[in-house]
Formats: sequence, C-alpha cells, structure tokens
Amino acid sequence: MKRIYLDNAATTSCHPAVVLAMQPYFAEKYGNPSSLHHFGQEARAAVESAREKLANLIGARPEEIVFCASGTEANNFALHGVLLANENKGNHIITSAVEHHAILEPCGFLKKHGYAITILPVDKYGLVDPDEVKRAITEKTILVSIMHANNEIGTIEPIAEIAGISHEKGVLFHTDAVQTVGQIEINVDALGVDLLSLSGHKFYGPKGAGALYIRKGTRILPFIRGGAQERNRRASTENVPGIIGMGAAAELAQKELLTRTAHLSKLQNKLIKGIFDKVPEVILNGHPEKRLAKNVNISFRYIEGESILLNLDMEGIAASTGSACSSGTLDPSHVLMAIGLSHEIAHGSIRFSLGIFNTEAEIDYLLEVLPKIICKLRQMSPLYKK
Ligand code: PLP
Repeated sequence: MKRIYLDNAATTSCHPAVVLAMQPYFAEKYGNPSSLHHFGQEARAAVESAREKLANLIGARPEEIVFCASGTEANNFALHGVLLANENKGNHIITSAVEHHAILEPCGFLKKHGYAITILPVDKYGLVDPDEVKRAITEKTILVSIMHANNEIGTIEPIAEIAGISHEKGVLFHTDAVQTVGQIEINVDALGVDLLSLSGHKFYGPKGAGALYIRKGTRILPFIRGGAQERNRRASTENVPGIIGMGAAAELAQKELLTRTAHLSKLQNKLIKGIFDKVPEVILNGHPEKRLAKNVNISFRYIEGESILLNLDMEGIAASTGSACSSGTLDPSHVLMAIGLSHEIAHGSIRFSLGIFNTEAEIDYLLEVLPKIICKLRQMSPLYKK
C-alpha cells in the first residue's frame, strides 16, 4: 500500500544528504572528539564544523551552541541550569499553558521541589499576551520560557516582544524553538532570546541530537555532569554522527528555507481549502496567519480523532491527534483545552503536519479519502443529527 506521511511535527525523515554526511562517522571516522590523536581530531573538526552550521542557521556564535541529546534535554537544561545558577536571585519561572510536556513536566517537578511556577493562559488562537507576562514578573522571577511555535496548532508566539519585556525587568528569556528551527527564519539577536532549544529530528536531521543556544554571558550551570565536554557545559562523549547529521540538516535548511516554505504554504492552503470545501462543521485550530506553514490542525465535530486516525491509517495516511492516552483514560490535548475547546471538540481534532517531501498529489489523495471517512464516522456517531 502506498503510504503518506503527514506527521512531520512528530518527526521527519532524515534527508538523504544528511544520511550521506553521517555515514563515515560510524565505522570510518569514529574517533572520540576529546582524543588528541588523528581519529579524535578528525571527529573534533567535524563536530566544530557542525556547530558553525547550526550557529549560522540561527544567527548565533558557534561557542554559544551546546550540543545535547534532544529538544527535551535542551529544555530541561535551560530550566534547571538557569535556576541553579541564579538561586541567590529568586525561585520563580513563568511559562505558558500550551508548552510541550518537555517544559511543563520539569516545571511540575520543580514546583514539587519548592520553586514557584506561573503558567500563563493563552487566547483562542494559542497566543500568549505579552502584557500578562509583564504583570506576572516579580522580583523573584529568574526565567520566562515561552515556546516559539506550538507543536499541535502551529501558532507562532510574539517572542521578540516577550523577550523585550523580560529583559526590561532583568529576567532571562528562553524559548523552545524545536518546531521552528529550520522551518522559519530565526535570528537569536532579532528575537532577543538568551536561551533557545532545538532538535535535529524536526528538520530532516537525525533523532537523538539537539542543542541549547546560550547567549554569551548567561548564568547557567550544567544539567548533565561528568567530563569536560562542551566546554564544561554538558558532559558525555558527543554523539558525533548525530551532530554531523544535525549540522548537515541545518546547512540544507538554511539554503532551502524559502523554497521549502513556499512548498509547504502551497500544500497547507490546498489542504485547508480542500477540507473546508468538502467537509461541513470543521474548525481550523491555531492562528489563521501567525502559524507554521507545516501545520494544519482541524476539529471535526461529532466524532473522535482516534477513529479518524485509525481510518486514515487503513488508507495509508499517517497523521496525529492531540489526545494522550494516560492512566487508562483518554485526556484531550492540554493545548486544545487551553485555547478553550470543549472536550467533545478537542477529541475530534486531527493534526496534519506537512513536510518537504509531501506532494500535491498526496494532498489530493487525502482530500479524496478524508471526506468519506468523516461522513462514515458521523453516520455512526450518536452526537450527529442526521
Ligand atoms: N518541544 C517541542 C515544541 C516539541 O514539539 C518536541 C517534540 O515533539 C520537543 C520539545 C521534544 O523534542 P525531542 O523529541 O527532541 O526530545
């Protein structure tokens, strides 16, 4: 069966050029970058070249990039590292209700251990109000952490404005940019961020490779302790093939950013228009304009997202729902609840996330299959008035 992958916000395939770039670093150029001999220095040079490519992609200096294992680790590093280094100043963090679990879970943990956490609400589009950030800052606030764009609904937050407000009050600012690096133009100076998390597997690089951008001069302690790697900021032997792959992916993303965005926007418009033309009673979640080109999140009234997902999968189409199966109950997505959807509507939501390898023909196929699935499921739904 022909399979169509529309779950690129979950992960992307490695670009063939990325795979090629990584290949020699498994069995040929396998040195440890900390070793002083030829093998080590060969790996070191490649890691430093990848660091430069990643720094270029986000307008940073290479020494401001610390490699780590994932976006999740980068977020944990930012939160714990900044809190530990600034304990003398206070114990308060501000974040938002639509953050990824990789921010919300560590915040929950920190709260249990005596830190003060403010979780700001969002509007119906998922936007954080910068004035709310201003009001929430106290003399104990150390860090504001607001994501650059949301992974479920694609809304892009007013990061530069919020970073500016944080700085006016002498507070550090972190953004989880896992969904935006390699997808939209990013310049850490224009955004005004002190810390930024990114992850290779979201922009056609490998899994298990991430990084935290740390602006020069930012007070932060390591999250993973051990050896002196990453200039004493993150211990553990570097994932050399992963880092090389992420560097190659960064270089490609920078080169292709405009063409990629044009392609994704075309597919996005086609998909949104197609769904609205062919399926009644649907809602587009997220901001109508301030959104990532790859994201299409739709609520289909009267039916369950899981049923849609399984039916799509049977037709060879992979997408995702926001719902998380936890402790035996199906909880609706915290993001969809935060934007004010009812349980019923949140449960009927599907995220299609587009990628650079998707084609118009694939969207045509989806638009042929999806209306039939929705119609069939609605006919079976007790909520649907026929
Ligand atoms: N932050 C956001 C916004 C994400 O979408 C994800 C992954 O889905 C993560 C963090 C975690 O990244 P990783 O899978 O590299 O740990």
